[in-house]
Amino acid sequence: MLIGVPKEIKTREYRVGLTPANVREFIAHGHSVLVQKNAAYEIGFTDTDYMAAGAAIADTAEEIFAKAEMIVKVKEPQESEYTQLREGQILYTYLHLAPDVPQTDGLIKSGCVAVAYETVTDSRGGLPLLAPMSEVAGRMSIQAGAHALEMSQGGRGMLLGGVPGVVPAKVTVIGGGVVGTNAARMAAGLGADVVILDRSIPRLAQLDDLFQGRAKTVFSTAEAIEEHVLSADLTVGAVLIPGAAAPKLVTADMVAHMPRGSVLVDVAIDQGGCFETAKPTTHAEPTYVVDEVVHYCVANMPGGVARTSTLALNNATLAHGLALADKGWQQALKDDTHLRAGLNVCEGKVTYEAVARDQNRDY
Ligand code: NAD
Repeated sequence: MLIGVPKEIKTREYRVGLTPANVREFIAHGHSVLVQKNAAYEIGFTDTDYMAAGAAIADTAEEIFAKAEMIVKVKEPQESEYTQLREGQILYTYLHLAPDVPQTDGLIKSGCVAVAYETVTDSRGGLPLLAPMSEVAGRMSIQAGAHALEMSQGGRGMLLGGVPGVVPAKVTVIGGGVVGTNAARMAAGLGADVVILDRSIPRLAQLDDLFQGRAKTVFSTAEAIEEHVLSADLTVGAVLIPGAAAPKLVTADMVAHMPRGSVLVDVAIDQGGCFETAKPTTHAEPTYVVDEVVHYCVANMPGGVARTSTLALNNATLAHGLALADKGWQQALKDDTHLRAGLNVCEGKVTYEAVARDQNRDY
């Protein structure tokens, strides 16, 4: 099969669908790969690296969309991209279709077979192609929070781990899923005093076992949140209620009573945020201040560390990508119900129930 890898065109998106290492895997399986010129230049993969892995280089995205049987990307196709997709062509990428009617219309019209990373499942009930980005965002939340605690950023001038003779900062993590666990690991690793709140008792038991006292677990109630947010130097919001907007667990009133210069990192901002005072920001201007509390609310945190994110995403997408190329989409989806769960639009029809329901379409 001919696999095509266009350069991403969304503003400040530097990730890429295939790394040279994954190109080599596709070539070893007998496929050909066409990569757009300078597709990953900014994150340190050159055209020479891609050619060494066995890819051919195309000057334009148009050439790739016209020739490839499967397009491998990162972000949802933009209008100039989905209008180039054609019948039977496989699109393997993040789609996030539910709120995006124009893209859904475009994919339906194209007749392509669109497999969305974010809805592929695994046998443990997880979302394995979404998890690596939560890992990245969780780890990054502490890096971003530590920076925001510095005086120059409006923070209260605290080092997360303290120094001998000076107590460390307190980090409160609300939500102990993938983001929260990775945030807590980084914070504990830096020597901070860490508390994780979650509503799931089995999850709290797992976390207690995992951290062995290096992070404390607390059942999440409004009272517990208030107590641990008001006493924190850095609070990370990492809750998720699948399919719903994030609950506003930290009120504007609580924020007003937080110590001057404390920091909030709302990772759940892509679902609306779990702090009442949160609004989405970008990597260009990641923070703003409300009531002397620094807010970091970047909606696409993994984009800030695009090289690490690309490598992590490629690790997660490879096996299913190879299955689609080796077997063709019909057989690959028939053989694997978890990959089948990724099918969102197929040859002119929406095939994912939640998208059809949210957009009042036939399913
Ligand atoms: P997850 O499902 O692994 O974890 C969510 C956790 O929140 C669960 O353990 C759940 O029990 C807990 N929770 C639910 N309600 C709670 C409450 N009231 N109090 C405390 N805990 C509660 O999800 P995840 O992968 O960790 O993702 C968390 C959020 O981060 C999601 O909104 C996700 O979309 C977002 N995210 C954002 C970025 C970004 O760039 N901003 C990147 C990746 C993920």
